[in-house]
Amino acid sequence: MIKATLEGFTDDIYELECPHCAAGMKIAVGRFGCYSQVWDGDKELRRELRPAVAEELTGTGRWMHRTAVRDGQEALADGIAHLFGAAECPVCASVFNIADEYTHANRPAVLIDRVPPRPKDTGAGASPATRQAVSVWGPTLRRERSRADRDRDGVDVG
Ligand SMILES: [Zn+2]
Repeated sequence: MIKATLEGFTDDIYELECPHCAAGMKIAVGRFGCYSQVWDGDKELRRELRPAVAEELTGTGRWMHRTAVRDGQEALADGIAHLFGAAECPVCASVFNIADEYTHANRPAVLIDRVPPRPKDTGAGASPATRQAVSVWGPTLRRERSRADRDRDGVDVG
């Protein structure tokens, strides 16, 4: 009864290291559930994620959540709340913030750098943007590289 319908939600898995014991784990958010997972040999250890309270979201998480809610994408909003919430390490039971840890391990500037897409740029309508929102961390590397290329081109003009 409580189970949300996750239609249209992009299933996502993020790989993180526990900030406390450095265990490698997967953070899964999607149709199959929202949990942290560690394999200990053949044994799977799982802990449910602890979603953020929507009112307490800030910055990008807040924007992404609001956009999803505005577009009526409840499943996506729910996934975002989980992604910006906390995970419990299945190994050492320490609790940490997923978004913090992910950006720390990858690109610290990513979330700060993220700006909402302008509606006029998307042409085909606004909903694909929200669907992509939860995967924003992926494409950023490419974006930053192309920006660097552009900078180099700019310098070349002399
Ligand atoms: Zn741990």
